[in-house]
Amino acid sequence: MQNTTLQGKTALITGSTSGIGLGIARALAQQGAHIVLNGFGDANEIAALQAGLTQDYGVQSTYHPADMSRPQEIAAMMQFAAAKFGSVDILVNNAGIQHVADIEDFPVEKWDAIIAINLSSAFHTTRLALPAMKEKNWGRIINIASAHGLVGSAQKSAYVAAKHGIVGLSKVTALENAQTGVTCNAICPGWVLTPLVQKQVDVRAANEDVSNDDAKKGLLAEKQPSGEFVTPEQLGALAVFLCSEAANQVRGAAWSMDGGWTAQ
Ligand code: NAD
Repeated sequence: MQNTTLQGKTALITGSTSGIGLGIARALAQQGAHIVLNGFGDANEIAALQAGLTQDYGVQSTYHPADMSRPQEIAAMMQFAAAKFGSVDILVNNAGIQHVADIEDFPVEKWDAIIAINLSSAFHTTRLALPAMKEKNWGRIINIASAHGLVGSAQKSAYVAAKHGIVGLSKVTALENAQTGVTCNAICPGWVLTPLVQKQVDVRAANEDVSNDDAKKGLLAEKQPSGEFVTPEQLGALAVFLCSEAANQVRGAAWSMDGGWTAQ
């Protein structure tokens, strides 16, 4: 069913060809927002995702392949979105990658890539989106951080540094625009079963010689008291709330949806 709370708005979601980004894109489309998809993947599958958004929710959608580690491509994507839909009203900085290793073994190029994709890309999209949002006096910037934006885990130095960084960036963006209609918040999910996490499940299953199911249970048992994964649909619903009028005064928050991970 299509709702109309975000009708006439345009949402750009980085890293929306998969996982959480796609869940958020669908949730925003369901509220009537036009969608700019971004991320890597098979061209036919991406075309099918776009067609699905239009068919299921009656919104327009487009796609830009910018690599979030490249500021020039990010600028091209922001220009493309503005040319296609007038402006970007809702910006969801979601693209992210992971690499797991002790600091002394952490490949330098992986560090640079994680900082660029998981943190610096949000600075670039935000600086380029803000002028039009301020002119309209309405905007929503939602940064997908992580429980790792609030607490650390061994072997995730770059990821934890980037996610703590994006929580900080969200606060500054919120403060600089506090007296405007532009809000900025971070969402801090716990484990969500996406390809990014399935890779970690696979490594665990191999290392411990256990089944895929037991590896998932072990992963959850270590960190997430609910024992259940958060879903992209639940995160989509939270993003819709942050875009609503009820959330006008939610500014600079780091909003956990983590099955109790950071309550411990
Ligand atoms: P995913 O691997 O399913 O999706 C990642 C998306 O980012 C894909 O669309 C991919 O194509 C895109 N992407 C990767 N590198 C890119 C680049 N250089 N340029 C453009 N797009 C790029 O992962 P996910 O789990 O859905 O993760 C999405 C976000 O949520 C990430 O920022 C991640 O850190 C965060 N997060 C995930 C979890 C989890 O448990 N899955 C928990 C907390 C936070």
